[in-house]
Amino acid sequence: MLSVVHSPVVVRAPSKVNLHLSVGDLRDDGYHELTTVFQALSLSDEISVVPSQGLRVNVKGADATKVPTDERNLVWKAAVLLADSVGREPLVEITIDKGIPVAGGMAGGSSDAAATLVALDAMWKLDLSRSELTDLAAKLGSDVPFVLHGGTAVGTGRGEKLLPVLSRNTFHWVLALAKGGLQTPAVFGELDELRSKGSPPRIGAPDALMQALASGDAHALAPLLGNDLQAAATSLLPQLRRTLRAGVAAGALAGIVSGSGPTCAFLCADADTAVSVSAELSGAGVCRTVRVASGPVPGARVVTSESIG
Ligand code: ATP
Repeated sequence: MLSVVHSPVVVRAPSKVNLHLSVGDLRDDGYHELTTVFQALSLSDEISVVPSQGLRVNVKGADATKVPTDERNLVWKAAVLLADSVGREPLVEITIDKGIPVAGGMAGGSSDAAATLVALDAMWKLDLSRSELTDLAAKLGSDVPFVLHGGTAVGTGRGEKLLPVLSRNTFHWVLALAKGGLQTPAVFGELDELRSKGSPPRIGAPDALMQALASGDAHALAPLLGNDLQAAATSLLPQLRRTLRAGVAAGALAGIVSGSGPTCAFLCADADTAVSVSAELSGAGVCRTVRVASGPVPGARVVTSESIG
């Protein structure tokens, strides 16, 4: 009898940086209205999926010990959601290889969730449409639709309503992972607090930034990067101010806190500059570790998949 050996379905999914993140006032449902321009970055996670007797999650790679392997993991939630929606059991073993820093404001868990949807769609031969996958992604978290699609996009609502943005050229980034941690709800809470005491300047609309993206000019883009959460993130973790200054002193065109932080993202003029900025930042003792990345890159996609009879 011929036994079937299943090779894993392997899916790579990108991280993200928010080039622009404007935060509106608190809505009645407890969320803030956001306008954000995302870019998908080459720093990525890989997940591999094989059929199994039950649902199992393993995590390896950088920061693996910080990631739960039970129903709290977003890949678990993604597998259950997709299985439920097509009326089957989530009998799969999912292994996550983390390249994206955990709790860094770079959509690591969201990326794994998007990758799980794509992997199970391929493994179970569901052939779901992009819009069906996007609807499932939005139920898992507001960043999940973006890392599913990748590229550069503007997101509204909680960030989950997406429109692609024209972006020419590849941009080069250095990412400085912070020594301390920040929780997303605490950062939004701090912004509400800062706004109740005064009026920290708001970054406004991203029109000029979109033009700079279309022109593909990193020098034009750099001064237009902005994040309303940055004041709150630096207020909770003041060391980030030193990191931001150090990156620009090392030769980056500009630095911003990525999303709700604490990772700082530095836009550089070219790939060589990114390498030298990363070397200088590593030696400056202002962060836990440093990575180089480029963007935009595609969203979650299968990189290998086959079944050998
Ligand atoms: P975002 O940028 O979308 O706000 P983040 O990149 O800051 O997210 P994550 O890396 O997604 O943060 O992790 C936030 C928390 O979610 C972690 O502390 C971890 O306990 C939990 N978590 C659940 N699933 C995952 C996963 N697959 N990878 C990483 N963290 C996960």
